[in-house]
Amino acid sequence: MSKSKYQTMGQQFGRRSWAEPWKIKMVEPIRMISKEDRQKAAAEAGYNTFLMRSEDVYIDLLTDSGTGAMSDRQWSGIMMGDEAYAGSRNFYHLENAIQTYYGYKFIIPTHQGRGAEHLISQAIIKKGDYIPGNMYFTTTRLHQELAGGTFVDVIIDEAHNPTAQHPFKGNVDLDKLQALVDKVGAKNIPYVSLAGTVNMAGGQPVSMANAKELREFCNKLGIRVYLDATRMYENCFFIQEREAGYQDKTIAEILLEFCSYTDGAWMSAKKDNLVNIGGWLAVNQADVAEKARNMVVVYEGLHTYGGMAGRDMEALAIGIAEGVDDDHIASRVRQVRYLGKLLLDWDIPIMEPIGGHAIFLDAKRFYDHLSQDLFPAQTLAAELYIDSGVRAMERGVVSAGRNPETGKHRYPALELTRLTIPRRVYTQAHMDVVAESIKNIFDTRKQTKGLKMVYEPEYLRFFQAKFEQIK
Ligand SMILES: *Cc1c(COP(=O)(O)O)cnc(C)c1O
Repeated sequence: MSKSKYQTMGQQFGRRSWAEPWKIKMVEPIRMISKEDRQKAAAEAGYNTFLMRSEDVYIDLLTDSGTGAMSDRQWSGIMMGDEAYAGSRNFYHLENAIQTYYGYKFIIPTHQGRGAEHLISQAIIKKGDYIPGNMYFTTTRLHQELAGGTFVDVIIDEAHNPTAQHPFKGNVDLDKLQALVDKVGAKNIPYVSLAGTVNMAGGQPVSMANAKELREFCNKLGIRVYLDATRMYENCFFIQEREAGYQDKTIAEILLEFCSYTDGAWMSAKKDNLVNIGGWLAVNQADVAEKARNMVVVYEGLHTYGGMAGRDMEALAIGIAEGVDDDHIASRVRQVRYLGKLLLDWDIPIMEPIGGHAIFLDAKRFYDHLSQDLFPAQTLAAELYIDSGVRAMERGVVSAGRNPETGKHRYPALELTRLTIPRRVYTQAHMDVVAESIKNIFDTRKQTKGLKMVYEPEYLRFFQAKFEQIK
């Protein structure tokens, strides 16, 4: 019996490969500028990747937010924009897509995720409330605080340990939640802020069992559960892969079940929903929807466009259906994993298990000779850019800022450099280039002496701070 060449090669290398479920129809040229120019660009940007020009970047892994590639169907949808001020046809497509795939009743479009966070926070948080959540996210927590609430972290302990091997590191610790209820009382907790996956913990998922338990716990106390659905498709992939009973279910089926344990969701459509701009709020309670609709006209736009053009809503409606496709989401998460595994094979320290949207280099272990005062994660991002034009971002002592009372740096347990993979944009070959560059700076790491901060803005300093290399 003759075997196909593919099978023979597969056996020879002991593997069977997967490939992206798309082919490329249009390309955007990119180039790596010379090493000399990269050194100059890095110095001019004060060794801060947020201050670099995109044109000087070769492979851009700064963020997966709004950086994905739209499909030919989505671009066709752009031409079908109904730019009526009120009641655009595209709004009804969008409403239908969210109701179909996420299962919520009332839909309010917003310009992006933080617009929806603003509406839900103002609609249901009162001054003095506590909002438990599975780790904070920057904009989510800020909107909860601006509405008068206090965020309380109730994620399981494993999430704070970069090497703890737990399949669902995003889970809520119900004992921590119970302790908060005992301390402040259920009536001062309007909702649990549940995120899947957890961005700041490295893209770690929440299990279906945990969502179900949380729902039962909250039902008894009259506390609601709202979901940050930004990367729920990726979360559903991990459930399908790791949780008993879900192997034969589709991502769409898993998503509907998960959302059924929540009262509503806010969404940054720039992530999973495969568009460059957009967001939405979806809730099941008519009174919450009414409050949010009253506010959306003040801050975003009429409740049938919420800051988006008709064409953007059409591309989003199509992106919602494309993003939930099993082959798409499997290739998306596997590409992230491909990069992570190359690094693990070379014993390069990364946050584990590998999450859904990014690889987080553990800069504390990478530069174990540098103290946090020498900004190891910032240094790593700068060295990576100089080596190969790859742009990453710092998530460590610079991002953590200063303690407002003492004025001293906050020293977070996690000192990370994030490589975020845009959706449907780069190939495995790009991932090889990234991995080999990291390997190169890892091999020469002892020569690296760190950075000194020479300019520090008052707020969110990671965006605009400037540094100099220590020679
Ligand atoms: C990006 C993001 C948001 C905020 O969304 P924007 O569209 O950037 O306003 C909220 N939550 C999570 C988890 C995110 O990653």
